[in-house]
Amino acid sequence: MSVMDILDKRAAFSFEVFPPKTDAGMEKLCGEGGVLEQLYTLHPDYISCTYGAGGTNVGKNLEVLDKIQKDGKTIGVTHFTCIGNTKEGIKEQLQTYLDHGINHMLALRGDLPHGWTGTGGDLHYATELVKFVRQEFGDKFTIAVAGSPEGHIACRSLDADIAFLKQKQDNGADYIMTQLCWDMDQFRYWLDAIRAAGIWMPVDVGIMPILDQAATINMALSRNGCVMPRALCEIISKNWIFPNPFVKDPFDSEVEAKKASFKAAGIEYTINQIDEYRACGINGIHLYALNKYDDVAYIAKEAGLLDLI
Ligand code: FAD
Repeated sequence: MSVMDILDKRAAFSFEVFPPKTDAGMEKLCGEGGVLEQLYTLHPDYISCTYGAGGTNVGKNLEVLDKIQKDGKTIGVTHFTCIGNTKEGIKEQLQTYLDHGINHMLALRGDLPHGWTGTGGDLHYATELVKFVRQEFGDKFTIAVAGSPEGHIACRSLDADIAFLKQKQDNGADYIMTQLCWDMDQFRYWLDAIRAAGIWMPVDVGIMPILDQAATINMALSRNGCVMPRALCEIISKNWIFPNPFVKDPFDSEVEAKKASFKAAGIEYTINQIDEYRACGINGIHLYALNKYDDVAYIAKEAGLLDLI
């Protein structure tokens, strides 16, 4: 079964997890009765696992995917970045995934670490990675690629970014997984623009649940330059944790109350955003599970995602 078989028939619903850095984190995610097993109970079409650009955390990424593959409850999709790697190294790693039964990938360039002036490897863009995977492995992989509704932070222009997205399709990519985007007017503009450019790949929309003030600001601004709509800014302002939300002080009941009210408003915002996306005619919702269960399960249920299956 391929994710494409599902996307051909109906909207998909999936989760994203990340490889934990510690043994305790791995146990919480992959252990018996852990988060992965809890997520299976919601019957996601697939679960993807992120990959540390430049090869960091690769072992844990494979461990997480091995668990998903072995459990056989859903499809495992690995993220994979090409920066800092040779063609030989990429070929070897991808063959390892196939040997482990993992035949779905999100083909990415990866974020360049600070101080890098080049991509430090044989392939420089996701377009090249997609072409290389098709040349070396034919149709063995289902290939997703990243799409940035607001334009990638380093793109020359939105038009250039869309042209490269079209090139990913021409090189053999199957579907799009989008970067975080809260600006729905921009998203609708982008969706029309990519269709006008001849990009017919299904669009699976990435949603980060708004649960924590610092994480939300960090995700929007540390790398991606995401626009925050006024309604989201209001939630942040009304629940602002002084002196700033990044300070991790010992327990303080006032701060805890603000965190709880931020989370409640953030969850409501996330559910409304999923409604808006689904009304745009997108092909799937990809929820960042953040290696948690309770909050994402609540969001998935309230947003009606469990009924897609
Ligand atoms: P590309 O598509 O290669 O684009 C990078 C930049 O180069 C863009 O500005 C583009 O306009 C430009 N460009 C593209 N092709 C060409 C070309 N042929 N010639 C000239 N310019 C070109 N990162 C991780 O490290 N690990 C992860 O697990 C991970 N998961 C992600 C999941 C999703 C859904 C998304 C959207 C991103 C993820 N990222 C991850 C981040 C991603 O690696 C970064 O956004 C990275 O900076 C760009 O990757 P890309 O595949 O979009 O790059």
